[in-house]
Amino acid sequence: MHRWSKLFIPTLREAPADAEVASHKFLVRAGYIRQLGAGIYNYLFLGQRSLNKIIGIVREEMDQIAQEFYLPAIHPREVWEQSGRWTGMGDNMFRLKDRKGADLCLGMTHEEIMTSIARSELRSYKQLPQIWYQIQTKFRDEPRPKAGLMRVRQFTMKDSYSFDIDKAGLDKSFDLHDAVYRKIFTRCGLKFVAVEADSGSMGGSQSQEFMVYTDAGEDLIASCPVCGYAANLEKGTSRLDAVTEMEPTGDGMPEPVSTPGCGAIADVAEFFKISPASDIKCVAYMALKRGSASKDGVTPDTWHGVAAFLRGDHQVNETKLMGAVGAADLRTMQAEELAQYFNGPAGFLGPVGLKPDAKPLEAGLTVVVDKSLEGRKNLVAGANQLDYHLRNVTPGRDFGWTLAADIRSVNEGEGCPVDACNGKLTVGKAVEVGHIFKLGYKYSESMGARVLDVNGKEVTPIMGSYGIGIERILTAAIEQSNDKNGFWLPATIAPFTVMVTVTNMGDALLKETGEKLAADLEAAGLDVLLDDRDERAGVKFKDADLVGIPYRINVGKKAAEGKVELVTRATATSVDVELAQTVALVKERVQEDQLLAVSV
Ligand code: ATP
Ligand code: MG
Repeated sequence: MHRWSKLFIPTLREAPADAEVASHKFLVRAGYIRQLGAGIYNYLFLGQRSLNKIIGIVREEMDQIAQEFYLPAIHPREVWEQSGRWTGMGDNMFRLKDRKGADLCLGMTHEEIMTSIARSELRSYKQLPQIWYQIQTKFRDEPRPKAGLMRVRQFTMKDSYSFDIDKAGLDKSFDLHDAVYRKIFTRCGLKFVAVEADSGSMGGSQSQEFMVYTDAGEDLIASCPVCGYAANLEKGTSRLDAVTEMEPTGDGMPEPVSTPGCGAIADVAEFFKISPASDIKCVAYMALKRGSASKDGVTPDTWHGVAAFLRGDHQVNETKLMGAVGAADLRTMQAEELAQYFNGPAGFLGPVGLKPDAKPLEAGLTVVVDKSLEGRKNLVAGANQLDYHLRNVTPGRDFGWTLAADIRSVNEGEGCPVDACNGKLTVGKAVEVGHIFKLGYKYSESMGARVLDVNGKEVTPIMGSYGIGIERILTAAIEQSNDKNGFWLPATIAPFTVMVTVTNMGDALLKETGEKLAADLEAAGLDVLLDDRDERAGVKFKDADLVGIPYRINVGKKAAEGKVELVTRATATSVDVELAQTVALVKERVQEDQLLAVSV
């Protein structure tokens, strides 16, 4: 049995000044974690105990479909060069040199390492499918580490990788992961949703994220309350209402109009008395094209101008735009770059007169037009001249583009994209706890993994990769269950299931009753923490409310009548219980919770 008086549980009254989200505040206040550096944390006793419980669940479920490995966290440069990601990973990769000057990196993910094993060991279709996983530390030099454990530079991931002989096999491995992930998150007590996600730079076909809705999250999810469609805004789309086109003026060709001071969409709409949907918005970016480094030489990274055009009432989704042009990063165009590419000032940029490159990210300007502008006519656009706009602008007739793509973010209230569904989409914030992904041939191909098929012919195995953020499960659980006094974890992942709080250790009867009850609870298979500190009851109750343990038994004055108080943290309610029935009741509650979790 664990006695609080002997443990190190450094609870705090105040949260760190920079903590904005509940999980960050409470993980520190409850003594789970302490910060060592930006995005780098020490996990103390309670934190590690909870993470170990999460890992236990993940391992138990993963063992049903996969084999556990443990790979190094420190990798030679060569293996990352074989896939092209030594440069591709950019500044997110921690790099170091050994004493001989050789380049190494800290592992941010393990596709390359797993593929290198497959390449040297797998020879025949008879050995497939294989699913290999590990639970291990990952290092990512995130540009904006934040929110406590939610986005850190060192974290624990369960990552698995599947190798199959064909697409049907990959579908099966993917579906196995989908099912196991649902079990894992359910057992961890998370209210999660599975959403369609962007497969972007990883180069695969199908990708699904597991999300927990919380305002503390950094992802936006569009979902349909009618049919259940759900997608990350980086991937999701919507059905737009039909727009009434304006009548052309004059000869119907683009005509400059003086629009003094109308730099903003709202001003332009007001000036022309049009809906922003009939105004073409321009967002100008510089996009990073990754160079490459190989034995044949080095091509440096380069930046290229990109003009994105879309409806005035739409917003650019930068992930979609990066995917469309194949950029590794984006930044806003500066004034001197605007002058170079457009010859016009911000607020009055437009597509007419530009000379789009034939291919994205070449020497000149890449022009990307959102799909929703295709087929439109008689629109208003900036004239690339201060205080002037053009009207009667018709895409295709008056200007061309490098490519047309879906680059807009879905807005709340737009139509569900699913055929025959009339639902309206809602948009909410969420945090990603897991991600499953059909990689395809990217790594097996580039790294030369081959097996013989049933006809003795050499073929490339097809791969999937699948991740779960262990710390993200803990933070998401806290985000979904907290109040002003602290948080409560599901019994399955709490550091302890139940605590026994002896209100006055100076009272021999209370002390004895508490000790015996804690021992009995433990004998019944529950994970018990006995608060045997010489503290005032008020201090103990405050700490108990803070530290995430779902059940508590207060042993106080009523012990003389053979009664104790059972407090359920989730509801902040308490009931008096006969001492003799306490163990059975707590067990029952915990089991009910687990059943509830399993039936979600
Ligand atoms: P994000 O979009 O949040 O950066 P990601 O797409 O980079 O996540 P993956 O590479 O798919 O994430 O990693 C698998 C899982 O690892 C994620 O689903 C998430 O739970 C977790 N994870 C990723 N990055 C971090 C991080 N910096 N800190 C904590 N957990 C992380
Ligand atoms: Mg990331």
